[in-house]
Amino acid sequence: MNPTQIAESLLATLAKRPQQLLIDGKRIDSLAGEYFDTVNPATGETLAKVACGAKEDIDLAVKAARRAFENPAWRRMNAMDRTKLLLKLADLIERDADELAVLECLDNGKPAHLTRLVEIEGSIKTFRYFAGWPTKFGGETLPVSPRGGARILNYTTREPIGVAGLIVPWNYPMSMAAWKIAPAVAAGCAVVLKPAEQTPLTALRLGELALEAGFPPGVINIVPGFGDAGAALVEHPDVNKIAFTGSTEVGKKIVQGCAGTLKKVSLELGGKSPHIILPDADLDAAAASVANGIFFNQGQTCTAGSRLYVHQSCSEHVLEAVAAHAKRLKVGSGLDPASDLGPLVSKEQWDRVSSYVSIGRGEGAKTLVGGGRPHGLERGYFFEPTVFVNAAPRMRIVREEIFGPVLTALTWNDVDDLIAQANDSPYGLAAGIWTNDLSSAHRIAEALQAGTVWINCFNLVDPATPFGGFKQSGWGREHGRQAMEMYSETKSVWVNLT
Ligand code: NDP
Repeated sequence: MNPTQIAESLLATLAKRPQQLLIDGKRIDSLAGEYFDTVNPATGETLAKVACGAKEDIDLAVKAARRAFENPAWRRMNAMDRTKLLLKLADLIERDADELAVLECLDNGKPAHLTRLVEIEGSIKTFRYFAGWPTKFGGETLPVSPRGGARILNYTTREPIGVAGLIVPWNYPMSMAAWKIAPAVAAGCAVVLKPAEQTPLTALRLGELALEAGFPPGVINIVPGFGDAGAALVEHPDVNKIAFTGSTEVGKKIVQGCAGTLKKVSLELGGKSPHIILPDADLDAAAASVANGIFFNQGQTCTAGSRLYVHQSCSEHVLEAVAAHAKRLKVGSGLDPASDLGPLVSKEQWDRVSSYVSIGRGEGAKTLVGGGRPHGLERGYFFEPTVFVNAAPRMRIVREEIFGPVLTALTWNDVDDLIAQANDSPYGLAAGIWTNDLSSAHRIAEALQAGTVWINCFNLVDPATPFGGFKQSGWGREHGRQAMEMYSETKSVWVNLT
């Protein structure tokens, strides 16, 4: 079936009944019987009614997760069996990949063909990668030095941290769920995941696939909610860890919420990533990367290269090429395989992006291309790829996260000044450098305050390599061994052999 046919079939199913919470292996209504609407951002129309989880539903889910965590069927499952479950789940996502991509497209707006290629493929890869960890993640035997010649054996074990509360955003709903669920269950935790209210559908489907794969009921609970579910999860006394991806503002509230019970917290927050071009770079490749780095996913990417720093001597050439690229991009329905950009996720997000365009113009910057609603797309939350020039370092469009398809271009002459400007931000998530000069590339990479630096590439991610931010872009790292560590505790065991 093509994306439009899949969409028709999904729409018919979604219209039949509300989407229920997934708690303890069962689809159930919220205790209060409340629902909220999830909206198709391409039309502004209601896509589905979704049960609205509140404090008491979160409590139910946490209790189910605790029971599942303590149950020997999960707690004592051997490592290889846990690996098999993760691999099976990856296979099921692959089986349903086309349908999941269209479901994400309907709920979020993003083009289905790109979602299939990037987000669904990335989720499969994430589960397969973390499937390798249960059989490899263990402790150490350590050479301690006891007094008086005592013979002591000291070793450490890694134990799952317990019940993990996962709060995931709307920009990459399926892959953010995978990034958190995969390491958590590989470490042996049980989870309660709260998807964003704008995009709850793929997470609920992922929970169902986990049951089909054979995860015991209660290990993976999915509770959409709106308004207080996130806070209820953060403050729940029986949750051991919170992992959150979203705005820096809400990240700070979550830290405050966790303080009462001193939960472990990991945060993947906002960014305003610099994309830097040196004059010796392959300028056409760099310009294409700049355009992809900001416009992919409608600019709703935490690592989006939203600040372009291009050397003065080549700025005209690069800006012309970026503008030409922006004009060539097709904005349209995510179901159309020719679309490069779909709509923004919500009216709220459209208003936010639009208000930043007004702010930029008010500050004296000029739009080289874009700046509003594309012609012929009167319904839905579509926004043109937009490039600002004549920007200055103190402008809000240079300093604040817009989270839309809006690039702000600045020029530079002196490399030390460039580095100072690139680092002059509360954020430190990622950065890109384009140059063919090896030592410049490494010198600038060393000086940049960013959790990820891409040299002659941009926005590459892989479950094997750590991902997270410096400064106010977050705490901790997702992916790799560090993710396994975030979902586990270390126990030190002393044995007197004397
Ligand atoms: P937010 O960062 O505001 O996060 C919303 C999520 O956080 C919801 O799930 C909400 O659940 C939960 N939440 C809100 N308050 C609390 C709290 N006190 N304790 C626990 N959970 C809480 O996302 P928005 O959708 O409002 O987006 C705002 C901006 O955030 C975007 O414009 C963008 O700049 C940035 N963003 C960054 C992302 C990234 O990848 N880093 C991803 C998405 C957005 P509940 O409704 O139950 O309160």
